[in-house]
Amino acid sequence: MDRLRMMQDMAGWPASHWHHLAAPPLALLIFAVDTFTDLMSAIAVLYVLVMLIAARPLTRRGLILAGIGCQGLAILSFAISHGLGANVSAVLRLAVALAAILITTMLLLRDQASRARLMATHAALTRSERRYRLIFENARFSLWEQDYAQVGPALAALRAAGVTDLADHARRHPGFADSLAALIVTIDVNEATLELMGAQRRADVLGPLGRFLPPDRGALVQVLQALLDGRDHFEGRGAILGLDGRVRTVLLGITFPEEGDGLSRVITSLVDITAREETQEALLAARAELARAARVATVGALSASIAHELNQPLGALVMNAQTCLRWLRRDPPDIASASAAAERTVRDGMRASELVRKTRGMLVKGERQDETIDPRQLLEEVLPLLDREIGASGARVATRIAPDVGGIRASRIEMQQVLINLIGNGLQAMAQRPAALRELTLAIEAADADHVLISVADRGTGIREEDLPKLFDPFFTTKADGMGLGLAICRAAIEAAGGSLSVRNRADGGAVFDCLLPAAARQAA
Ligand code: ADP
Repeated sequence: MDRLRMMQDMAGWPASHWHHLAAPPLALLIFAVDTFTDLMSAIAVLYVLVMLIAARPLTRRGLILAGIGCQGLAILSFAISHGLGANVSAVLRLAVALAAILITTMLLLRDQASRARLMATHAALTRSERRYRLIFENARFSLWEQDYAQVGPALAALRAAGVTDLADHARRHPGFADSLAALIVTIDVNEATLELMGAQRRADVLGPLGRFLPPDRGALVQVLQALLDGRDHFEGRGAILGLDGRVRTVLLGITFPEEGDGLSRVITSLVDITAREETQEALLAARAELARAARVATVGALSASIAHELNQPLGALVMNAQTCLRWLRRDPPDIASASAAAERTVRDGMRASELVRKTRGMLVKGERQDETIDPRQLLEEVLPLLDREIGASGARVATRIAPDVGGIRASRIEMQQVLINLIGNGLQAMAQRPAALRELTLAIEAADADHVLISVADRGTGIREEDLPKLFDPFFTTKADGMGLGLAICRAAIEAAGGSLSVRNRADGGAVFDCLLPAAARQAA
Protein backbone atom coordinates (compact mmCIF):
# COMPACT_ATOMS: atom_id res chain seq x y z
CA MET A 1 0.00 0.00 0.00
CA ASP A 2 2.70 2.41 1.04
CA ARG A 3 4.64 1.61 -2.10
CA LEU A 4 1.57 2.22 -4.21
CA ARG A 5 1.01 5.56 -2.50
CA MET A 6 4.58 6.49 -3.04
CA MET A 7 4.34 5.67 -6.69
CA GLN A 8 1.09 7.58 -6.99
CA ASP A 9 2.73 10.56 -5.30
CA MET A 10 5.69 10.38 -7.61
CA ALA A 11 3.47 10.07 -10.61
CA GLY A 12 1.59 13.09 -9.40
CA TRP A 13 -1.71 11.26 -9.04
CA PRO A 14 -3.97 12.32 -6.14
CA ALA A 15 -4.07 9.56 -3.51
CA SER A 16 -7.18 10.81 -1.69
CA HIS A 17 -10.54 9.97 -3.16
CA TRP A 18 -13.23 11.03 -0.70
CA HIS A 19 -16.00 9.44 -2.67
CA HIS A 20 -14.72 5.95 -1.82
CA LEU A 21 -15.96 6.56 1.75
CA ALA A 22 -19.45 6.24 0.33
CA ALA A 23 -18.85 2.55 -0.43
CA PRO A 24 -19.66 0.96 3.00
CA PRO A 25 -22.97 2.88 3.53
CA LEU A 26 -23.96 2.06 -0.06
CA ALA A 27 -23.23 -1.64 0.60
CA LEU A 28 -25.41 -1.54 3.71
CA LEU A 29 -28.19 0.23 1.83
CA ILE A 30 -28.15 -2.41 -0.94
CA PHE A 31 -28.10 -5.14 1.71
CA ALA A 32 -31.14 -3.62 3.48
CA VAL A 33 -33.13 -3.17 0.26
CA ASP A 34 -32.17 -6.69 -0.90
CA THR A 35 -33.05 -8.32 2.41
CA PHE A 36 -36.07 -6.45 3.66
CA THR A 37 -38.00 -5.51 0.52
CA ASP A 38 -39.43 -8.05 -1.87
CA LEU A 39 -38.49 -6.39 -5.14
CA MET A 40 -38.23 -9.16 -7.65
CA SER A 41 -35.23 -7.69 -9.47
CA ALA A 42 -31.49 -8.53 -9.08
CA ILE A 43 -30.75 -5.76 -6.55
CA ALA A 44 -27.53 -7.59 -5.52
CA VAL A 45 -26.02 -6.74 -8.91
CA LEU A 46 -25.68 -3.18 -7.56
CA TYR A 47 -22.79 -4.41 -5.34
CA VAL A 48 -20.82 -3.88 -8.58
CA LEU A 49 -21.25 -0.14 -7.92
CA VAL A 50 -19.81 -0.57 -4.41
CA MET A 51 -16.79 -2.31 -5.88
CA LEU A 52 -16.26 0.43 -8.48
CA ILE A 53 -16.51 3.22 -5.87
CA ALA A 54 -14.24 1.47 -3.36
CA ALA A 55 -11.62 0.24 -5.81
CA ARG A 56 -9.21 3.21 -6.27
CA PRO A 57 -7.52 3.37 -2.83
CA LEU A 58 -7.65 -0.40 -2.19
CA THR A 59 -4.69 -2.76 -2.45
CA ARG A 60 -4.95 -6.06 -4.26
CA ARG A 61 -5.85 -7.84 -1.05
CA GLY A 62 -8.36 -5.16 -0.11
CA LEU A 63 -10.04 -5.55 -3.50
CA ILE A 64 -10.33 -9.35 -3.11
CA LEU A 65 -11.71 -8.93 0.41
CA ALA A 66 -14.23 -6.32 -0.77
CA GLY A 67 -15.33 -8.71 -3.55
CA ILE A 68 -15.73 -11.58 -1.08
CA GLY A 69 -17.55 -9.18 1.33
CA CYS A 70 -20.04 -8.09 -1.33
CA GLN A 71 -20.68 -11.69 -2.38
CA GLY A 72 -21.10 -12.64 1.34
CA LEU A 73 -23.68 -9.87 1.81
CA ALA A 74 -25.58 -10.99 -1.30
CA ILE A 75 -25.66 -14.62 -0.07
CA LEU A 76 -26.60 -13.53 3.47
CA SER A 77 -29.55 -11.44 2.33
CA PHE A 78 -30.63 -14.33 0.01
CA ALA A 79 -30.55 -16.70 3.02
CA ILE A 80 -32.52 -14.29 5.19
CA SER A 81 -35.19 -13.44 2.62
CA HIS A 82 -35.63 -16.85 1.01
CA GLY A 83 -34.38 -19.42 3.51
CA LEU A 84 -34.53 -22.88 2.08
CA GLY A 85 -37.67 -22.21 0.08
CA ALA A 86 -36.06 -20.29 -2.78
CA ASN A 87 -37.48 -20.55 -6.24
CA VAL A 88 -35.43 -21.06 -9.39
CA SER A 89 -35.61 -17.42 -10.55
CA ALA A 90 -34.37 -16.14 -7.15
CA VAL A 91 -31.42 -18.57 -7.29
CA LEU A 92 -30.69 -17.45 -10.85
CA ARG A 93 -30.75 -13.77 -9.79
CA LEU A 94 -28.31 -14.55 -6.98
CA ALA A 95 -26.04 -16.42 -9.41
CA VAL A 96 -26.06 -13.46 -11.85
CA ALA A 97 -25.21 -11.02 -9.01
CA LEU A 98 -22.38 -13.23 -7.71
CA ALA A 99 -20.96 -13.62 -11.23
CA ALA A 100 -21.17 -9.83 -11.82
CA ILE A 101 -19.30 -9.10 -8.56
CA LEU A 102 -16.68 -11.73 -9.40
CA ILE A 103 -16.09 -10.41 -12.92
CA THR A 104 -15.95 -6.81 -11.66
CA THR A 105 -13.41 -7.78 -8.99
CA MET A 106 -11.24 -9.53 -11.58
CA LEU A 107 -11.41 -6.60 -14.00
CA LEU A 108 -10.55 -4.18 -11.19
CA LEU A 109 -7.60 -6.36 -10.17
CA ARG A 110 -6.30 -6.35 -13.73
CA ASP A 111 -6.79 -2.61 -14.04
CA GLN A 112 -4.97 -2.08 -10.78
CA ALA A 113 -2.02 -4.22 -11.86
CA SER A 114 -1.59 -2.36 -15.14
CA ARG A 115 -1.97 0.99 -13.40
CA ALA A 116 0.77 -0.02 -10.95
CA ARG A 117 3.02 -1.04 -13.84
CA LEU A 118 2.39 2.26 -15.59
CA MET A 119 3.16 4.24 -12.49
CA ALA A 120 6.35 2.28 -11.86
CA THR A 121 7.53 2.97 -15.42
CA HIS A 122 6.60 6.61 -15.08
CA ALA A 123 8.43 6.87 -11.78
CA ALA A 124 11.54 5.22 -13.24
CA LEU A 125 11.42 7.64 -16.14
CA THR A 126 11.09 10.60 -13.82
CA ARG A 127 13.99 9.35 -11.73
CA SER A 128 16.25 8.91 -14.75
CA GLU A 129 15.18 12.29 -16.12
CA ARG A 130 16.10 13.86 -12.78
CA ARG A 131 19.42 12.07 -12.76
CA TYR A 132 20.32 13.34 -16.25
CA ARG A 133 19.12 16.81 -15.37
CA LEU A 134 21.44 16.70 -12.37
CA ILE A 135 24.37 15.59 -14.52
CA PHE A 136 23.57 18.35 -17.07
CA GLU A 137 23.30 20.97 -14.35
CA ASN A 138 26.33 19.97 -12.29
CA ALA A 139 28.82 19.15 -15.07
CA ARG A 140 31.95 21.25 -14.58
CA PHE A 141 32.12 22.02 -18.29
CA SER A 142 29.73 24.02 -20.38
CA LEU A 143 26.82 22.10 -21.95
CA TRP A 144 24.42 23.55 -24.51
CA GLU A 145 21.23 22.00 -25.77
CA GLN A 146 20.65 23.33 -29.26
CA ASP A 147 18.08 23.09 -32.00
CA TYR A 148 19.62 22.41 -35.42
CA ALA A 149 16.29 21.41 -36.99
CA GLN A 150 16.36 24.30 -39.48
CA VAL A 151 19.99 23.63 -40.41
CA GLY A 152 19.11 20.15 -41.73
CA PRO A 153 16.98 21.34 -44.68
CA ALA A 154 19.46 24.16 -45.49
CA LEU A 155 22.29 21.62 -45.72
CA ALA A 156 20.10 19.22 -47.70
CA ALA A 157 19.49 22.02 -50.22
CA LEU A 158 23.25 22.64 -50.53
CA ARG A 159 23.86 18.90 -50.94
CA ALA A 160 21.24 18.77 -53.67
CA ALA A 161 22.97 21.70 -55.39
CA GLY A 162 26.18 19.64 -55.47
CA VAL A 163 28.07 21.61 -52.77
CA THR A 164 30.64 19.39 -51.02
CA ASP A 165 33.26 21.84 -49.73
CA LEU A 166 31.63 24.28 -47.32
CA ALA A 167 34.84 26.22 -46.59
CA ASP A 168 35.10 26.98 -50.29
CA HIS A 169 31.38 27.78 -50.47
CA ALA A 170 31.68 30.13 -47.46
CA ARG A 171 34.58 31.94 -49.14
CA ARG A 172 32.54 32.53 -52.25
CA HIS A 173 29.32 33.47 -50.38
CA PRO A 174 30.37 35.75 -47.52
CA GLY A 175 26.95 35.82 -45.82
CA PHE A 176 26.54 32.05 -45.84
CA ALA A 177 28.03 31.20 -42.42
CA ASP A 178 26.08 34.02 -40.75
CA SER A 179 22.79 32.92 -42.22
CA LEU A 180 23.31 29.35 -40.96
CA ALA A 181 24.50 30.57 -37.53
CA ALA A 182 21.15 32.35 -37.19
CA LEU A 183 19.37 29.00 -37.68
CA ILE A 184 21.05 27.34 -34.70
CA VAL A 185 18.98 28.07 -31.61
CA THR A 186 20.07 27.45 -28.02
CA ILE A 187 17.28 25.91 -25.96
CA ASP A 188 19.01 25.33 -22.64
CA VAL A 189 22.43 25.66 -21.01
CA ASN A 190 23.90 24.56 -17.69
CA GLU A 191 25.39 26.51 -14.80
CA ALA A 192 28.97 26.17 -16.10
CA THR A 193 27.89 27.87 -19.32
CA LEU A 194 26.73 30.96 -17.45
CA GLU A 195 30.15 31.10 -15.83
CA LEU A 196 31.93 30.64 -19.17
CA MET A 197 29.85 33.32 -20.87
CA GLY A 198 29.91 35.75 -17.97
CA ALA A 199 26.09 35.66 -17.95
CA GLN A 200 23.78 36.27 -14.98
CA ARG A 201 20.70 34.51 -16.25
CA ARG A 202 20.04 31.62 -18.58
CA ALA A 203 17.85 33.83 -20.76
CA ASP A 204 20.96 35.89 -21.63
CA VAL A 205 22.41 33.06 -23.69
CA LEU A 206 19.30 31.34 -25.05
CA GLY A 207 18.11 31.96 -28.61
CA PRO A 208 20.07 32.23 -31.88
CA LEU A 209 23.74 31.27 -31.52
CA GLY A 210 25.11 33.76 -34.06
CA ARG A 211 25.69 36.66 -31.68
CA PHE A 212 28.14 34.57 -29.59
CA LEU A 213 30.38 33.60 -32.48
CA PRO A 214 33.52 35.69 -33.06
CA PRO A 215 34.00 37.13 -36.57
CA ASP A 216 36.07 34.13 -37.66
CA ARG A 217 33.47 31.53 -38.65
CA GLY A 218 36.03 28.79 -39.38
CA ALA A 219 34.93 26.46 -36.58
CA LEU A 220 31.24 26.86 -37.47
CA VAL A 221 31.97 25.97 -41.08
CA GLN A 222 33.85 22.86 -39.90
CA VAL A 223 30.90 21.83 -37.73
CA LEU A 224 28.50 22.27 -40.64
CA GLN A 225 30.87 20.33 -42.90
CA ALA A 226 30.74 17.42 -40.42
CA LEU A 227 26.95 17.53 -40.60
CA LEU A 228 27.00 17.77 -44.39
CA ASP A 229 29.30 14.73 -44.54
CA GLY A 230 26.79 12.80 -42.42
CA ARG A 231 29.20 12.34 -39.51
CA ASP A 232 27.65 11.63 -36.12
CA HIS A 233 29.92 13.88 -34.09
CA PHE A 234 32.39 16.74 -34.26
CA GLU A 235 35.44 17.47 -32.15
CA GLY A 236 37.74 20.42 -32.58
CA ARG A 237 38.88 23.84 -31.46
CA GLY A 238 36.63 26.83 -31.59
CA ALA A 239 36.06 30.22 -30.04
CA ILE A 240 33.10 31.81 -28.34
CA LEU A 241 32.36 35.43 -27.59
CA GLY A 242 31.32 36.03 -23.97
CA LEU A 243 28.80 38.64 -22.88
CA ASP A 244 31.74 40.69 -21.59
CA GLY A 245 33.15 40.86 -25.14
CA ARG A 246 36.07 38.52 -24.39
CA VAL A 247 36.77 35.70 -26.81
CA ARG A 248 37.39 32.33 -25.17
CA THR A 249 39.21 29.51 -26.92
CA VAL A 250 37.32 26.27 -26.38
CA LEU A 251 37.49 22.58 -27.15
CA LEU A 252 34.25 21.71 -28.89
CA GLY A 253 32.43 18.39 -28.77
CA ILE A 254 29.13 17.96 -30.58
CA THR A 255 27.08 14.81 -30.98
CA PHE A 256 24.62 14.83 -33.87
CA PRO A 257 21.65 12.53 -33.48
CA GLU A 258 19.98 11.03 -36.54
CA GLU A 259 18.97 13.69 -39.03
CA GLY A 260 15.33 14.76 -38.92
CA ASP A 261 13.65 15.12 -35.55
CA GLY A 262 16.85 14.30 -33.69
CA LEU A 263 18.50 17.52 -34.86
CA SER A 264 16.17 19.51 -32.66
CA ARG A 265 18.11 18.36 -29.59
CA VAL A 266 21.84 18.55 -30.21
CA ILE A 267 24.13 18.55 -27.20
CA THR A 268 27.30 20.62 -27.44
CA SER A 269 30.05 20.62 -24.84
CA LEU A 270 32.65 23.36 -24.49
CA VAL A 271 35.82 23.20 -22.42
CA ASP A 272 37.51 26.55 -21.84
CA ILE A 273 41.19 26.24 -22.78
CA THR A 274 41.91 29.98 -23.00
CA ALA A 275 44.16 30.02 -19.95
CA ARG A 276 45.95 26.87 -21.07
CA GLU A 277 46.51 28.34 -24.54
CA GLU A 278 47.80 31.60 -23.12
CA THR A 279 50.26 29.74 -20.91
CA GLN A 280 51.30 27.67 -23.91
CA GLU A 281 51.81 30.80 -25.98
CA ALA A 282 53.83 32.48 -23.24
CA LEU A 283 55.89 29.30 -23.00
CA LEU A 284 56.52 29.23 -26.74
CA ALA A 285 57.42 32.93 -26.76
CA ALA A 286 59.82 32.35 -23.86
CA ARG A 287 61.32 29.38 -25.67
CA ALA A 288 61.75 31.41 -28.87
CA GLU A 289 63.34 34.22 -26.89
CA LEU A 290 65.65 31.71 -25.25
CA ALA A 291 66.60 30.25 -28.63
CA ARG A 292 67.30 33.77 -29.90
CA ALA A 293 69.41 34.54 -26.85
CA ALA A 294 71.27 31.27 -27.38
CA ARG A 295 71.89 32.22 -31.00
CA VAL A 296 73.14 35.64 -30.01
CA ALA A 297 75.42 34.04 -27.45
CA THR A 298 76.69 31.58 -30.06
CA VAL A 299 77.31 34.39 -32.52
CA GLY A 300 79.14 36.32 -29.79
CA ALA A 301 81.28 33.33 -28.93
CA LEU A 302 81.92 32.63 -32.61
CA SER A 303 82.97 36.22 -33.33
CA ALA A 304 85.25 36.12 -30.33
CA SER A 305 86.82 32.88 -31.46
CA ILE A 306 87.15 34.10 -35.06
CA ALA A 307 88.79 37.29 -33.82
CA HIS A 308 91.10 35.26 -31.62
CA GLU A 309 92.03 32.76 -34.33
CA LEU A 310 92.46 35.43 -36.99
CA ASN A 311 94.60 37.64 -34.83
CA GLN A 312 97.62 35.42 -35.15
CA PRO A 313 97.64 34.86 -38.97
CA LEU A 314 96.74 38.53 -39.55
CA GLY A 315 99.61 39.67 -37.34
CA ALA A 316 101.98 37.33 -39.20
CA LEU A 317 100.54 38.57 -42.50
CA VAL A 318 101.19 42.21 -41.71
CA MET A 319 104.66 41.42 -40.42
CA ASN A 320 105.59 39.42 -43.55
CA ALA A 321 104.18 42.15 -45.82
CA GLN A 322 106.26 44.79 -43.97
CA THR A 323 109.37 42.57 -44.28
CA CYS A 324 108.67 42.20 -47.98
CA LEU A 325 108.44 46.00 -48.35
CA ARG A 326 111.72 46.44 -46.50
CA TRP A 327 113.55 44.01 -48.86
CA LEU A 328 112.07 45.81 -51.83
CA ARG A 329 113.10 49.30 -50.57
CA ARG A 330 116.72 48.28 -50.18
CA ASP A 331 119.21 49.67 -52.63
CA PRO A 332 119.55 47.47 -54.54
CA PRO A 333 116.25 45.63 -53.68
CA ASP A 334 116.73 42.04 -52.43
CA ILE A 335 114.21 40.37 -54.74
CA ALA A 336 114.82 36.82 -53.49
CA SER A 337 114.15 37.73 -49.84
CA ALA A 338 111.20 39.91 -50.84
CA SER A 339 109.63 36.98 -52.79
CA ALA A 340 110.10 34.66 -49.82
CA ALA A 341 108.33 37.19 -47.55
CA ALA A 342 105.55 37.65 -50.13
CA GLU A 343 105.11 33.86 -50.28
CA ARG A 344 104.78 33.75 -46.50
CA THR A 345 102.19 36.55 -46.78
CA VAL A 346 100.17 34.49 -49.25
CA ARG A 347 100.41 31.43 -46.95
CA ASP A 348 99.17 33.45 -43.96
CA GLY A 349 96.29 34.86 -46.05
CA MET A 350 95.28 31.34 -47.12
CA ARG A 351 95.35 30.16 -43.52
CA ALA A 352 93.12 33.03 -42.43
CA SER A 353 90.58 32.33 -45.14
CA GLU A 354 90.63 28.59 -44.33
CA LEU A 355 89.93 29.50 -40.69
CA VAL A 356 86.99 31.67 -41.72
CA ARG A 357 85.63 28.87 -43.91
CA LYS A 358 85.92 26.31 -41.10
CA THR A 359 84.30 28.55 -38.51
CA ARG A 360 81.46 29.34 -40.90
CA GLY A 361 81.01 25.61 -41.39
CA MET A 362 80.63 25.23 -37.64
CA LEU A 363 77.50 27.37 -37.83
CA VAL A 364 75.67 24.57 -39.56
CA LYS A 365 77.83 21.49 -39.19
CA GLY A 366 78.59 19.15 -36.42
CA GLU A 367 78.97 15.65 -37.70
CA ARG A 368 77.06 15.71 -41.00
CA GLN A 369 74.28 13.16 -40.90
CA ASP A 370 72.76 13.18 -44.33
CA GLU A 371 69.94 10.76 -45.02
CA THR A 372 67.40 10.06 -47.71
CA ILE A 373 64.33 12.19 -47.02
CA ASP A 374 60.95 12.11 -48.68
CA PRO A 375 60.25 15.82 -49.35
CA ARG A 376 56.50 15.22 -48.89
CA GLN A 377 57.19 13.84 -45.43
CA LEU A 378 59.43 16.83 -44.73
CA LEU A 379 56.46 19.16 -45.36
CA GLU A 380 54.23 16.97 -43.19
CA GLU A 381 56.74 17.24 -40.35
CA VAL A 382 57.27 20.97 -40.67
CA LEU A 383 53.72 22.27 -41.17
CA PRO A 384 52.39 21.12 -37.77
CA LEU A 385 55.35 22.88 -36.11
CA LEU A 386 54.16 26.10 -37.73
CA ASP A 387 50.47 25.55 -37.02
CA ARG A 388 50.26 28.43 -34.61
CA GLU A 389 52.17 30.91 -36.80
CA ILE A 390 50.11 29.99 -39.85
CA GLY A 391 46.87 30.29 -37.87
CA ALA A 392 47.89 33.66 -36.42
CA SER A 393 48.97 35.02 -39.82
CA GLY A 394 45.56 34.29 -41.36
CA ALA A 395 47.35 33.04 -44.47
CA ARG A 396 46.32 30.06 -46.56
CA VAL A 397 49.02 27.49 -47.17
CA ALA A 398 48.75 25.57 -50.43
CA THR A 399 50.97 22.64 -51.37
CA ARG A 400 51.70 21.61 -54.95
CA ILE A 401 53.53 18.32 -55.16
CA ALA A 402 54.48 16.78 -58.51
CA PRO A 403 53.65 13.06 -58.51
CA ASP A 404 57.00 11.77 -59.75
CA VAL A 405 59.28 13.32 -57.10
CA GLY A 406 61.72 11.02 -55.31
CA GLY A 407 63.77 11.46 -52.15
CA ILE A 408 66.46 14.04 -51.41
CA ARG A 409 69.78 13.59 -49.67
CA ALA A 410 70.27 16.00 -46.78
CA SER A 411 70.22 16.39 -43.01
CA ARG A 412 66.61 16.13 -41.87
CA ILE A 413 66.97 18.53 -38.95
CA GLU A 414 68.70 21.14 -41.13
CA MET A 415 66.09 20.89 -43.88
CA GLN A 416 63.33 21.29 -41.28
CA GLN A 417 65.12 24.39 -40.01
CA VAL A 418 65.46 25.75 -43.56
CA LEU A 419 61.75 25.34 -44.30
CA ILE A 420 60.75 26.78 -40.92
CA ASN A 421 62.89 29.86 -41.66
CA LEU A 422 61.64 30.31 -45.22
CA ILE A 423 57.96 29.78 -44.36
CA GLY A 424 58.28 32.06 -41.30
CA ASN A 425 59.84 34.80 -43.45
CA GLY A 426 57.10 34.38 -46.07
CA LEU A 427 54.34 34.72 -43.45
CA GLN A 428 56.02 37.81 -41.99
CA ALA A 429 56.37 39.38 -45.42
CA MET A 430 52.59 39.06 -45.95
CA ALA A 431 51.53 40.39 -42.55
CA GLN A 432 50.56 43.81 -43.95
CA ARG A 433 48.70 42.49 -46.99
CA PRO A 434 44.88 42.15 -47.00
CA ALA A 435 43.90 38.76 -45.52
CA ALA A 436 42.34 37.51 -48.76
CA LEU A 437 45.67 37.90 -50.57
CA ARG A 438 47.84 36.09 -48.00
CA GLU A 439 48.76 32.87 -49.70
CA LEU A 440 51.88 30.78 -49.28
CA THR A 441 52.59 28.07 -51.84
CA LEU A 442 54.93 25.19 -51.11
CA ALA A 443 55.88 23.34 -54.26
CA ILE A 444 57.95 20.20 -54.77
CA GLU A 445 59.05 19.05 -58.20
CA ALA A 446 61.88 17.22 -59.93
CA ALA A 447 64.18 19.98 -61.31
CA ASP A 448 66.15 17.51 -63.39
CA ALA A 449 67.35 13.91 -63.12
CA ASP A 450 69.72 14.83 -60.29
CA HIS A 451 67.87 17.53 -58.37
CA VAL A 452 64.64 18.12 -56.51
CA LEU A 453 63.32 21.67 -56.25
CA ILE A 454 61.47 22.76 -53.11
CA SER A 455 60.14 26.28 -53.46
CA VAL A 456 58.47 28.56 -50.96
CA ALA A 457 56.46 31.32 -52.65
CA ASP A 458 54.62 34.11 -50.88
CA ARG A 459 52.46 37.07 -51.84
CA GLY A 460 54.29 39.49 -49.57
CA THR A 461 56.24 42.68 -50.12
CA GLY A 462 58.85 41.07 -52.36
CA ILE A 463 62.49 42.11 -52.12
CA ARG A 464 63.88 45.47 -53.17
CA GLU A 465 66.22 45.24 -56.17
CA GLU A 466 69.12 46.77 -54.20
CA ASP A 467 68.68 44.28 -51.32
CA LEU A 468 68.83 41.19 -53.54
CA PRO A 469 72.66 40.86 -53.60
CA LYS A 470 72.95 41.24 -49.81
CA LEU A 471 69.99 39.09 -48.79
CA PHE A 472 72.00 36.01 -47.82
CA ASP A 473 74.77 37.97 -46.08
CA PRO A 474 75.00 37.28 -42.36
CA PHE A 475 73.45 40.10 -40.30
CA PHE A 476 71.57 41.61 -43.23
CA THR A 477 68.08 42.43 -42.00
CA THR A 478 65.37 44.99 -42.65
CA LYS A 479 63.40 44.09 -39.52
CA ALA A 480 63.59 46.09 -36.33
CA ASP A 481 64.00 42.89 -34.30
CA GLY A 482 65.74 40.84 -36.99
CA MET A 483 69.15 39.22 -36.68
CA GLY A 484 69.72 38.67 -40.36
CA LEU A 485 71.12 35.19 -39.83
CA GLY A 486 68.19 33.02 -40.97
CA LEU A 487 68.88 33.14 -44.70
CA ALA A 488 72.64 32.91 -44.22
CA ILE A 489 72.19 29.74 -42.19
CA CYS A 490 69.65 28.35 -44.70
CA ARG A 491 72.05 28.87 -47.60
CA ALA A 492 74.97 27.36 -45.67
CA ALA A 493 72.88 24.30 -44.72
CA ILE A 494 71.68 23.72 -48.27
CA GLU A 495 75.14 24.20 -49.72
CA ALA A 496 76.55 21.79 -47.15
CA ALA A 497 74.11 19.18 -48.50
CA GLY A 498 75.38 19.87 -52.02
CA GLY A 499 72.49 22.05 -53.12
CA SER A 500 71.82 25.73 -53.68
CA LEU A 501 69.38 28.36 -52.42
CA SER A 502 68.28 31.30 -54.55
CA VAL A 503 65.62 33.97 -54.48
CA ARG A 504 63.59 35.82 -57.08
CA ASN A 505 60.67 38.26 -57.07
CA ARG A 506 57.36 37.18 -58.57
CA ALA A 507 56.03 39.21 -61.48
CA ASP A 508 52.69 39.68 -59.73
CA GLY A 509 54.02 40.39 -56.24
CA GLY A 510 55.84 38.42 -53.57
CA ALA A 511 59.05 36.43 -53.39
CA VAL A 512 60.06 32.83 -54.19
CA PHE A 513 62.90 30.99 -52.48
CA ASP A 514 64.11 28.01 -54.51
CA CYS A 515 65.94 25.22 -52.69
CA LEU A 516 67.67 22.98 -55.21
CA LEU A 517 68.66 19.75 -53.47
CA PRO A 518 70.51 16.65 -54.67
CA ALA A 519 68.18 13.78 -55.49
CA ALA A 520 68.75 10.65 -53.42
CA ALA A 521 69.06 8.38 -56.46
CA ARG A 522 72.06 10.29 -57.80
CA GLN A 523 73.84 10.05 -54.44
CA ALA A 524 73.19 6.33 -54.27
CA ALA A 525 74.64 5.89 -57.75
P1 ADP B 1 65.68 38.20 -40.34
O1 ADP B 1 64.40 37.53 -40.65
O2 ADP B 1 66.12 38.03 -38.95
O3 ADP B 1 65.71 39.60 -40.81
P2 ADP B 1 66.70 36.62 -42.53
O4 ADP B 1 68.09 36.26 -42.88
O5 ADP B 1 65.75 35.49 -42.40
O6 ADP B 1 66.81 37.43 -41.19
O7 ADP B 1 66.13 37.62 -43.59
C1 ADP B 1 66.91 38.70 -44.02
C2 ADP B 1 66.06 39.74 -44.69
O8 ADP B 1 65.59 39.24 -45.94
C3 ADP B 1 64.82 40.11 -43.93
O9 ADP B 1 65.06 41.11 -42.98
C4 ADP B 1 63.91 40.62 -45.04
O10 ADP B 1 64.16 41.95 -45.35
C5 ADP B 1 64.34 39.79 -46.25
N1 ADP B 1 63.41 38.68 -46.51
C6 ADP B 1 63.55 37.40 -46.14
N2 ADP B 1 62.52 36.65 -46.59
C7 ADP B 1 61.69 37.49 -47.25
C8 ADP B 1 60.44 37.33 -47.97
N3 ADP B 1 59.82 36.13 -48.05
N4 ADP B 1 59.90 38.41 -48.55
C9 ADP B 1 60.49 39.62 -48.45
N5 ADP B 1 61.68 39.84 -47.81
C10 ADP B 1 62.27 38.78 -47.21
